[in-house]
Amino acid sequence: MLDYDAVVIGGGPAGLTAGLHLSRAGHRALLLEREVFGGALKHVELLERDAGAISGARLASDLAEEAARCGLRLREAAVTGVEAFSSTRWVALEDGRGFSTAVVIVASGSRPRRLGIPGEDRLVGRGVIDCVPCDGGFFAGRRVAVCGSDDHALADALHLAGLAAGVTVLARSPELRAGPALRSGRSPIPGSWSGAARTSGRSSDRTASRG
Ligand SMILES: Cc1cc2nc3c(=O)[nH]c(=O)nc-3n(C[C@H](O)[C@H](O)[C@H](O)COP(=O)(O)OP(=O)(O)OC[C@H]3O[C@@H](n4cnc5c(N)ncnc54)[C@H](O)[C@@H]3O)c2cc1C
Repeated sequence: MLDYDAVVIGGGPAGLTAGLHLSRAGHRALLLEREVFGGALKHVELLERDAGAISGARLASDLAEEAARCGLRLREAAVTGVEAFSSTRWVALEDGRGFSTAVVIVASGSRPRRLGIPGEDRLVGRGVIDCVPCDGGFFAGRRVAVCGSDDHALADALHLAGLAAGVTVLARSPELRAGPALRSGRSPIPGSWSGAARTSGRSSDRTASRG
């Protein structure tokens, strides 16, 4: 008999949701996470939902708790390989052990998209960052710019506005792409956007401040 009906690789929102539904449907499922359950969601200060705003960390732990209650086995372990046989899959772990399963769901996340501009690769980690909750503290008291105007970018800009000397949001169009609460400055992350967007060619900029 196989160890599990399904093994989910990755404990971010995608993996936790897949594992939750598998377990709820009565399947024997195991979820493997190499770092922190919740994945990138753990770094999200605030998520806007119909049911009201919630922090990413809170949503992640709610998801993990609900999945565990439904019977999902959650285990901290790094997956190093997957092998496919005719009716079995083998999921190998870093410590040399592994699990047999009928189905493997890979929910291991993604890498940040790069802008693809000159100097970017050279300066990643030396002034160019892609995780504000992780690295924003290095820019306390400095002037910073955030590229983009979606939820992610504006939440990052407001986060930085709480510690940097100034934050400029650089966007392709004068319209901000984030949801209404973040756009209007009415979100539970305190902060506001000053002035109309100054537009030049295909780009525009705004300033974020936090009060
Ligand atoms: C600062 C920030 C703000 C954001 N704001 C928002 C927002 O406001 N609204 C919104 O909808 N989204 C937001 N996002 C995006 C959202 O967090 C991601 O879209 C979401 O987390 C992706 O989920 P995922 O499960 O696909 O991947 P991830 O969350 O990346 O999870 C993948 C998991 O897989 C694990 N993993 C990878 N490889 C292995 C392996 N070999 N073995 C075991 N485990 C492995 C990783 O450790 C990770 O925990 C934001 C993200 C960040 C960083």
